[in-house]
Amino acid sequence: MTRRLYYDSSEIHEFDSIVEDVTPPSPEHPRPAVILRETAFYPTSGGQVHDTGWLTLAGNNEAATRLRVAEVAEAEDGSIVHYLEAPPKLPLAGEKIHGSVDPERRRDHMQQHSGQHVLSAAFVELYQMPTVSFHMGTSEAYCSIDLATPSVTPEQIAAAEKRANQIVFEDCPIRIRHVSRAEAEKLGLRKLPPAERDDLRLIDIADFDLSACGGTHVAASGQIGSILLRKTEKVRQGTRVEFVCGHRTVRMARRDYSALTEAAALFSTQLWDVPDQIRKTLDETKLARKQKDDAFDQLAELMAASALQDEPEINGRKIIVRAFSDRDIAFAKLFAQKVTRTTTPAIALVASAVDPPGLVFAQTPGGSADMGALLKQSLSPVGGRGGGSRDFAQGGVPAGSTVNVEQLLRHAAVTIGA
Ligand SMILES: [Zn+2]
Repeated sequence: MTRRLYYDSSEIHEFDSIVEDVTPPSPEHPRPAVILRETAFYPTSGGQVHDTGWLTLAGNNEAATRLRVAEVAEAEDGSIVHYLEAPPKLPLAGEKIHGSVDPERRRDHMQQHSGQHVLSAAFVELYQMPTVSFHMGTSEAYCSIDLATPSVTPEQIAAAEKRANQIVFEDCPIRIRHVSRAEAEKLGLRKLPPAERDDLRLIDIADFDLSACGGTHVAASGQIGSILLRKTEKVRQGTRVEFVCGHRTVRMARRDYSALTEAAALFSTQLWDVPDQIRKTLDETKLARKQKDDAFDQLAELMAASALQDEPEINGRKIIVRAFSDRDIAFAKLFAQKVTRTTTPAIALVASAVDPPGLVFAQTPGGSADMGALLKQSLSPVGGRGGGSRDFAQGGVPAGSTVNVEQLLRHAAVTIGA
């Protein structure tokens, strides 16, 4: 079992140790694994992400060999495994080694993890909503807690955020304590670990929160910097609350500000007027779409009337054949409907050549032809698909195809004897 230096202090970033075991890379584990007698490297556990850093081999020559620690994990037997990224050479068991934890990454993890304790305690204090799980995202991502509650209101989010930041501003000392399980039960912890372990490590945020935890924490709540709550979302076990702490808060706020500034510039308005501008634009778009639909409807109506007028009646019906090169299939359909909803019995064989090309075949309801069958007959030789009823059918040819829809229409017209 590796001695964990981070259990006693989160500020130990540099340490000396002895190599206990080295496992060369294998197909299952492409990175070589090193186990030390003691380590300050934190392994992924309890929601917290692992540290990274360096192991330095003290060589006889000037150039000591630096080995990159890319990942740290906890083995079942309690040892901590350091996975090395493409090391130039492997250390030997018994060799002296110097470890250096990446302090910036560690600092970020401490801020997120301590911030999580404060936030979880705030939700319990204000609304008796216990945290059932904690997830720490990597440096560019959010962290989240899952609360055992079906929903959280925006007001509750704002109040919990305010209370949590109050604890940050009070700069309460955060201490590590070791107690027996019996003692812990009397102390009224926010969360007791399920494991049957007698020595419990507690994280004590003075006068605010006490919980069992093996993670690395800041020494006082002020070092969390700030806690910013983000999106909430319903999950299987309750409600997920996303948050960020410390420097991530600043980065996130900077990104939000840049995005809002860009949006405001596009609307030539102030940041806080962006939602109003978007609402206005959406209303205008809706109105413009309605006006366009009305205009197209009138246009189709007029074009249908003119086409019917020009077409002679043969055997008691008029057959209108029309291929549009500049109108989409929706307009072709509208035109076909207008042609076949007049008092004169009519058949409309209409196509749109606009990609993806399509066909619409329609007849005045109750006509003697079968539009569905005619469409299938026209499309199947060219790999097109479609179908419909006796009176109305619609289909298309594959996008980007070189099929000449006008030719398909002419064939169809000949078939029904136009
Ligand atoms: Zn914790």
